[in-house]
Amino acid sequence: MPREILRVGACPKCDADDLQCRYNHFEKDELRIVSWEHKCAECGYRETTAFRSDDPEELQPEVVDRCPYCGRQGHL
Ligand SMILES: [Zn+2]
Ligand SMILES: [Zn+2]
Repeated sequence: MPREILRVGACPKCDADDLQCRYNHFEKDELRIVSWEHKCAECGYRETTAFRSDDPEELQPEVVDRCPYCGRQGHL
């Protein structure tokens, strides 16, 4: 399965122009997991968010197919 990785610009930590936005999504029966990761290849800076469809309702975001960091849209 190809991963969807996009270069999104400069790293907020080391300023290297190599920050990557990675989108993953996984579905099995009723469960759906969407994860977003921003990662810098230069300094190792990393932030991730994951949404699971079996999380409590109050934790469900309105939009899961959009990166919480850069706002780009993933392809479902
Ligand atoms: Zn960096
Ligand atoms: Zn992003």
